[in-house]
Amino acid sequence: MEKCIFCKIASHEIGSNVVFEDEKLVAFKDINPAAPVHIVIIPKAHITGVLALREKDKELIGDIILAARKIAGEFGIAEDGFRIVTNSGPNAGQSVAHLHFHLLGGRTLGWPPG
Ligand code: AMP
Ligand code: ZN
Repeated sequence: MEKCIFCKIASHEIGSNVVFEDEKLVAFKDINPAAPVHIVIIPKAHITGVLALREKDKELIGDIILAARKIAGEFGIAEDGFRIVTNSGPNAGQSVAHLHFHLLGGRTLGWPPG
């Protein structure tokens, strides 16, 4: 089966601007940034989204949040503030069917989101 675009990024089959990587996760700069800092954090495993998560993935989600916090520190946005968001399904605008969390910061972020 054809790999999805984020699986190809995770395996370095296609290039991206990687800012963090370990055995389970990859984080890279969003190609179409919505904020001065916009990082996408993904599991290397192909999980289609929040709806596909299973009990065994609980630790993985914790790892993603902790990685996001670490990256926020490295990009100097930890104290000013940042947002971690994941979109699920068409109403939320999920455009890639591989679980991913956005880390956004570097400007005031509006709330509620549009
Ligand atoms: P979402 O719309 O929540 O599914 O988020 C998908 C994100 O992936 C969007 O913000 C895209 O700009 C980003 N994206 C898609 N393809 C790439 C790519 N090749 N490299 C980096 N970011 C990408
Ligand atoms: Zn995938």
